[in-house]
Amino acid sequence: MTDPAAGAAGTGPAEADWAAAVAAVRDLPADAQVQLICHVNPDGDALGSMLGFGLGLRQLGVRQLRATFPGPPEVPEPFRALPGLDLLVPEEDAYPAPHLVVCFDAASESRLGGLVDRLATAGTALVLDHHASNTRFGGINLVDPRAAATSVVAEELLARLGVRLDAGIAEGLYVALTTDTGSFRFEATTPAVHELAARLLATGIRPGDISRQVFDTRPFGAVRLFGEVMCRARLEPTAAGGNGLVWTYATLDDLARHDQRPYVLEALIDSVRCTAEADVSCVVKQVRSDEWAVSMRSKGAVDVSRVAVALGGGGHTFAAGFTGRGSADDVMASIRAELDKALIEA
Ligand code: AMP
Ligand code: MN
Ligand code: MN
Repeated sequence: MTDPAAGAAGTGPAEADWAAAVAAVRDLPADAQVQLICHVNPDGDALGSMLGFGLGLRQLGVRQLRATFPGPPEVPEPFRALPGLDLLVPEEDAYPAPHLVVCFDAASESRLGGLVDRLATAGTALVLDHHASNTRFGGINLVDPRAAATSVVAEELLARLGVRLDAGIAEGLYVALTTDTGSFRFEATTPAVHELAARLLATGIRPGDISRQVFDTRPFGAVRLFGEVMCRARLEPTAAGGNGLVWTYATLDDLARHDQRPYVLEALIDSVRCTAEADVSCVVKQVRSDEWAVSMRSKGAVDVSRVAVALGGGGHTFAAGFTGRGSADDVMASIRAELDKALIEA
């Protein structure tokens, strides 16, 4: 019998889940079609875990293998050097009824957009994730809320499948790990995280080059855009139960004036959240005339995932997001109304 505690909320997958996932891959027929899917607006963990795992499947001899994500098939510039990009296809070219579908870094079906039907058409649906709010929407769920990144779960499954880490696999998993740990700065940076990083680096990948490409390179237009958007940041010291809120917004017009793509704004929250006087930080990014992608961070006083879930999104305790409607002020009003309900008891 499996340990009844294993697989419960807050713990990792049960042994039976690992065994089922290993069997789902190992028992694939020789001509099997395998579809990999990561969440909409993919970040480093979504893309890096998916492509690293895909290269592992390729090593195992899986030949009919595609990777995709919902929405425009544009890979953000920082990730355009990732090994395994040749696996990527636009969502309309995803296998309609694959033997196996594997989902990466998506807490819920809503993050799969128009690809959600593959959960039903695929022979087996396997979910790899690390969000505490994961709804267990797969047939097999490898969800570990203690894992610093989805790539931690992906690497364990690859190891159990007997895949040997090579530099191609390692680069994707390393980008994923550094993205979700803030380059080994966040609380989730356990000894096991550093041990995984050591195994990945031992393949010969170059952390300096990777970090520069992924985190420290942006067009001059984006540098100027950041300056403008940072200048309009607002500090509200009494918000969030007196713990303070700092926020800013960026419009489609801002992007157009600086000739920039929306994904350049993903890094903005890391500059805003430096504000010493605020526990909570938000960046409100326009995606349509009345639609905004919201990023939220907390330093410990607020469970921003509760705010995000209340407003239709999700995420982690200290890093979460949602899609807001109306004006930027409407979106901020909706956040303020939820903040005091999401205070973490001291
Ligand atoms: P971001 O601020 O985009 O870096 O996202 C931080 C966290 O919030 C990530 O774990 C995302 O999975 C989650 N998240 C962001 N936007 C959404 C959304 N619209 N729906 C659900 N989860 C989201
Ligand atoms: Mn992600
Ligand atoms: Mn992640």
